[in-house]
Amino acid sequence: MIKNLSSEEIISLTNEFVMPTYLQEITMVKGEGINLWDIKGNKYIDFTSGIAVTNIGHCHPNVLDAMHNQAKNLMHTSNLYYNELQPQLAKKLIECAGLDSGKCFFCNSGAEANEGMIKLARLWGSDKNKYEIITMNKSFHGRTLATLTATGQDKVKKGFGPLPKGFVHAEYNDINSVKNLINLNTVAVMVEAVQGEGGVIPASIDFMQELQIVCKENDILLLCDEVQAGIGRTGKWFGFQHYDIKPDVVSLAKGLGNGFPIGAIIASGDLSNTFKPGHHATTFGGSPLACSVALSVIQTIENGILEHTNYIGRYLKEELSPIISDHSEWVQDIRGIGLMIGVVLKVPAKKLQDRLLEKRLLTIATAGNILRMLPPLIVNKEEVDHSIKIIKEVCNELHADMLIDLKE
Ligand SMILES: *Cc1c(COP(=O)(O)O)cnc(C)c1O
Repeated sequence: MIKNLSSEEIISLTNEFVMPTYLQEITMVKGEGINLWDIKGNKYIDFTSGIAVTNIGHCHPNVLDAMHNQAKNLMHTSNLYYNELQPQLAKKLIECAGLDSGKCFFCNSGAEANEGMIKLARLWGSDKNKYEIITMNKSFHGRTLATLTATGQDKVKKGFGPLPKGFVHAEYNDINSVKNLINLNTVAVMVEAVQGEGGVIPASIDFMQELQIVCKENDILLLCDEVQAGIGRTGKWFGFQHYDIKPDVVSLAKGLGNGFPIGAIIASGDLSNTFKPGHHATTFGGSPLACSVALSVIQTIENGILEHTNYIGRYLKEELSPIISDHSEWVQDIRGIGLMIGVVLKVPAKKLQDRLLEKRLLTIATAGNILRMLPPLIVNKEEVDHSIKIIKEVCNELHADMLIDLKE
């Protein structure tokens, strides 16, 4: 039996029965388009998109239709049997990635996609005794043992040792730092085109292009973690497409199901035949239900949403930029691509995030001093104008406070 609980009951039940892995304050009960409603009836503008997941907005009608129609017919069989949706989604993703040929593997989350990508690279390198993977400082790749080891941030690793061997970290946007780590055992370099959790840091064009060359020269795979930047977030299907490069393997998840869990690996060319029966598997991966939802997401985005994301992302950044000059003491920069935007502060971002929340605009403080904004890709000009008005108001209100924080 599902009961309707009060806010207080939800919090006390959560505290008693759910592991305290998250810091939470508000109970959300409804979503539609760019908005969320909490249990008390307050309406929010959601510039988090469930962390780059609900890219086409909450409860998009196309997603609901796909979900209902498929659920009535067949939800899950495991991969003991073919299903008609998996290859259609795979074909679509390979087209979106701009690969001449390639194959997909489906899973359920970003960490699982990266885990699969790491396994694929290692299996490919196993004959040559190549296994070491170079990842970047400040990267984020997930919370499983291998992916947290791949993550270039010490805070996610503390207490979980012994960690798997075979991962080393280079400086992001510094090609020499990558070159210095390459040795005969190096099998791959893994990189985010735009680091998300690390603070919305786009890779430089030179770095990504040189990385591709260095990988080719050394017979090393280029792995792109597109879990956050993928599926239209940056105004192209994938973040790497801003760099005119072709990675060997791409991982994705977050935006692919618009809230329904699904992840994928896309491998290009011959490499995509590395996994043979028995090498890798997951029970839920690529279920008819997950694939039908993902197909509806892609079809929806194909209908002009990438163009809109480019336009509205540029507009948001431009309209927001006066806060840099108006508050130059504590606002340093606005960066990012498409609708993956970071406001770089010289003070911790939590206070700004909290005050915006009070005004019902949801954002995410990350990497200490970065305010990350991941609006739904369908956000319109009026909604952006309204949000910018709120942000400017809050910046003015907090100005004196931030100057004090700056001194501390
Ligand atoms: C969120 C994220 C992950 C992990 O995805 P989960 O679905 O939380 O496991 C991996 N890589 C990047 C770049 C991410 O942003």
